Amino acid sequence: MSSIPLITRAAQHGEHTAILSEGKSFTYAALLTDSAKVAAALLDGVKDLDEVRVAILFPSGYDYVRTQWGVWRAGGIAVPLCTTHPRPELEYVLADAEVGVVIAHAEYAEFLYPIAEEMGIRVVTTEAIEQADADRALPEVGGARRAMILYTSGTTGKPKGVVTTHANIEAQIATLVDAWGWQADDHILQMLPLHHIHGIINVCGCALWSGAVCDMIPRFDAETVWKRFVETNLTLFMAVPTIYAKLAAAWEAASPETQREWSEACKKFRLMVSGSAALPVPMLERWETISGHRLLERYGMTEIGMALSNPLKGERLAGHVGAPLPGVSIRLVGEGGNSVVEGADGEIQIKGPSVFNEYWKRPEVTEESFVDGWFKSGDIAIAKNDIYRILGRNSVDIIKTGGYKVSALEIEEVLRNHEAIAECAVVGMPDEEWGEVVSAALVLKDSAALESAALRGWCKERLAPYKSPTKFLYLDALPRNAMGKVTKPDISALFAADGEAS
Ligand code: AMP
Repeated sequence: MSSIPLITRAAQHGEHTAILSEGKSFTYAALLTDSAKVAAALLDGVKDLDEVRVAILFPSGYDYVRTQWGVWRAGGIAVPLCTTHPRPELEYVLADAEVGVVIAHAEYAEFLYPIAEEMGIRVVTTEAIEQADADRALPEVGGARRAMILYTSGTTGKPKGVVTTHANIEAQIATLVDAWGWQADDHILQMLPLHHIHGIINVCGCALWSGAVCDMIPRFDAETVWKRFVETNLTLFMAVPTIYAKLAAAWEAASPETQREWSEACKKFRLMVSGSAALPVPMLERWETISGHRLLERYGMTEIGMALSNPLKGERLAGHVGAPLPGVSIRLVGEGGNSVVEGADGEIQIKGPSVFNEYWKRPEVTEESFVDGWFKSGDIAIAKNDIYRILGRNSVDIIKTGGYKVSALEIEEVLRNHEAIAECAVVGMPDEEWGEVVSAALVLKDSAALESAALRGWCKERLAPYKSPTKFLYLDALPRNAMGKVTKPDISALFAADGEAS
């Protein structure tokens, strides 16, 4: 039997349902047998994969989990690919991670396998897995073994592979299970993309660690999710703010009778969580009105798992991400490299067993990302009484204008209160006189019209003059990545193109 805690724990839950997927129910025992088959097919003649990278391309569902577990049990490193990435992005990951084997869901096999073959990468087919021997001896896999590489798109340059070990994953899961009170009778809906930490650790990892039910649907769709809320005995829901916005929009467009039914369905949940991007306060309030749930907002990143969380019990402060999770050490460091005094802003630095091992094949970048063993997150925050508020990423959200440091997130929060504005994203655009100028990309509500001069006046009544945006760009939609996060470098590029055009 494996020494990977997530997998050894599964044996305790035997006949309990682990996963609901594609209309079928799979027990923990089935997951153990089926993942052993994946491991056996991967091993095919060798005793241990010894950290060979195995790229997996699956929608959210049972096959994803059994394949991920199979890779781990064979001693390999799982490299989950994004189902919506075009060929060049997939090729980049396959080459950068020096992937040795690929396994894809039937839906993607036709697309991925020829690419793999062209690149000389071995393909393991579903047929090979079905024929493999589930009783084959599997290697011992210890906590220090590398388990996963997740590609994270930096704000500059190409995505980097974030390597976590089994011990890192264990720590990332265990702290959340503890803080959010996960139990075997929990039941969570999983529809997040599974190439990202949110779905992998916070949803699947915690559910399967706890012996709970993970109800997996291939992708997010507001109607399907609301239907699941009504029809199944869910207790937990975790999503990014964009998903809550889409669910809220679907609710607002529904008939009063449907609205009542959907709101009623929310009563059975014990907890709803938001994270991976800032949760706008109006969104928190809108969701509270719709569902009766005050979202628990948390902060984390691919490199560190989750680090800060509002409490399960107790006050959840709007616009704040709470206190350090158990086992996670946090400090805020100012530009001079010293810890800041309470109430001043600084970079979040993190230490603890959940912090990743390294950036794949980038020793210099890894080294630059740490100082005295603390990981430099690049996120700026302030804290009061150990409760943190995120001001944004140093590189894109902290705007330096006329000698002032301004938080893009704070300005976005104000803009969202304007009745004509549906969505917004603020960036700093280079400027000879000011260093950077506060620039706001706006999506207006249906049929709303807005004069930039009037908006400037509106902002000046609510924000210090140096914080008020001076440039506006009107868009039909904000550019977002597969996780629904606004891609600020794209916003800056749109402003730059607009500047050149005019
Ligand atoms: P990722 O590695 O894709 O999960 O992205 C991590 C980044 O998302 C962090 O470094 C933050 O910039 C941002 N982030 C995550 N959670 C929050 C939050 N609750 N509020 C604001 N930003 C967040």
